[in-house]
Amino acid sequence: MATGPTTPLSHIDLQTLTSLFSQFNQMQQNSNRANLSPILDPTSHYYLHPGESPGTPLIASILNLNNYHTWETSMSRALRGKNKIKCIDGSLPKPPSDDPLFEAWERCNMYVGDIFCITAKQEDMSITDYFTKMKGIWEGLDNFKPVPSCESCHETCKCGLGIMRGYRQDTRMVRFLRGLSDQFTTVR
Ligand SMILES: [Zn+2]
Repeated sequence: MATGPTTPLSHIDLQTLTSLFSQFNQMQQNSNRANLSPILDPTSHYYLHPGESPGTPLIASILNLNNYHTWETSMSRALRGKNKIKCIDGSLPKPPSDDPLFEAWERCNMYVGDIFCITAKQEDMSITDYFTKMKGIWEGLDNFKPVPSCESCHETCKCGLGIMRGYRQDTRMVRFLRGLSDQFTTVR
């Protein structure tokens, strides 16, 4: 079993979730406004082709519990082809919020962030096996697309990356819980 930081299931509560979702909605609204920005240079990492919007699949294969490595290979190839690999490996720093590229950065991040969703079902696995498998994939995804650490935040995060980290973690928990078999419906 892989080792790494573990999030206890009980860590998440409804209030945290609700506030994260509303923060996320705000971010989405901000990023929708970026549609009007003149980010039209196809050689820029910030450039999004009109067909490239969150929700548009980049590759044909969908990430599931058993295909992580082949999925990562083709996803990495597709992202390189679209000049987006820098959006996911953390090497494209987030511009300050008054920078004209700020919204474009958020939009690119949202676009690539959307790709990394896994929907899986527990099916006939034990809950422990199911969790272990999901955790292995999350760790792979964390290496593939790390959320950068805050540069200058101390106790509270002011740069927004904390929201991204929390959102990622909570989305995972929600998906994990949704994938549980019916015998656990009371958990959901
Ligand atoms: Zn921060």
